[in-house]
Amino acid sequence: MVYRTGRHFLQIPGPTNVPDRVLRAMSAPVIDHRGPEFASLASETLLELRPVFGTTQPVVVYAASGTGAWEAALVNTLSPGDRVLAFETGHFAVLWRDLARRLGLEVEFVAGDWRRGADPAEVTARLTADTEHRIKAVCLVHNETSTGVASRVADVRRAIDDAGHPALFLVDTISSLGSIDYRHDEWGVDVTISGSQKGLMLPPGLSFNAISQKALRAAESAGLPRSYWDWGPILEANRRGFFHSTPATNLLYGLREALRMLDEEGLPNVFARHARHAEATRAAVRAWGLEVLCADEREYSGSLTAVLLPEGYNADRFREIVLDRFDMSLGTGLGKLAGKVFRIGHLGHINDLTLAGTLAGVQMGLKLAGVPVSDGGVEAALDVLAGDR
Ligand SMILES: *Cc1c(COP(=O)(O)O)cnc(C)c1O
Repeated sequence: MVYRTGRHFLQIPGPTNVPDRVLRAMSAPVIDHRGPEFASLASETLLELRPVFGTTQPVVVYAASGTGAWEAALVNTLSPGDRVLAFETGHFAVLWRDLARRLGLEVEFVAGDWRRGADPAEVTARLTADTEHRIKAVCLVHNETSTGVASRVADVRRAIDDAGHPALFLVDTISSLGSIDYRHDEWGVDVTISGSQKGLMLPPGLSFNAISQKALRAAESAGLPRSYWDWGPILEANRRGFFHSTPATNLLYGLREALRMLDEEGLPNVFARHARHAEATRAAVRAWGLEVLCADEREYSGSLTAVLLPEGYNADRFREIVLDRFDMSLGTGLGKLAGKVFRIGHLGHINDLTLAGTLAGVQMGLKLAGVPVSDGGVEAALDVLAGDR
């Protein structure tokens, strides 16, 4: 076993680095989840959570990974046999489609090449063609973590409105919330799905549904079976500062601290920092002579960058070298991108020098793996980082 000094570089697009402040906040005794101290923790945290989603409406917190919150959004709003419209933007969109089908929903899945987000014109076309309003929901992954492509949520909302269609709008923000600008209320989203372990800088274990009034009304008649995920009892208990089943107390301590950190930095600054780090990363990739997977500059992700390796070079072999030599984890290629791309996570608790160190590790790893790259990637990124902010 090699002895490692310094900190491991966890540069995957989630789970992300947990700040020391958050780790310290979580290392506290577990308290009575039916006592007054808990009620004040929960009441404060549930309220402070809303601005991060861009909402004044309730946000439900589950002790579950993001996948649970996907399921919750569907079972609370839809009935067996309902049709939903979804887009093949990448691996996570495919997983969500499969989950929906297993629940008994009919998914109209718009094919995609995994290099672009959902096309708003296609949304309008599909919904306009649905004259009988058989489509009950539009399901969109905001930031496709497998590709580094961010769909334009506001434009998709406009496309739904242009079709004059009443479908619900369900959006997965698991790898965008707290990293890329997002506005649940303003963009007319009905259920926003998110998770703790990416932009929110927490360990895995919590996930979220932000819920519109329209979604709450849909829940009154939705017929899919639901029990643990049912919003009703949770919202009822939350009104008094409690949960209907045992909450993840210490993750909530961490959440309260992470929300304070986002508030202190200011969300607009948080988004600008992510955009700048993404730009510096792309500058490095281009200087190396490699290709960014995202094909549309309007859809570049602020959270991560997926990089294509030239034909004949295995991205996982390169990742192994980086882990072995430099103690850094980079994201693997998922689904049909396995072996073809690696992903650089630049979301959450990072700064300019974390990114510079990350890109230095990537550059050295590429050379050690024998990938033909030009010099100057790190320099190109440093020029962006040292520029005006
Ligand atoms: C990570 C991620 C998921 C899966 O969440 P889990 O917490 O692993 O269940 C779903 N969607 C997106 C966009 C993600 O990034």
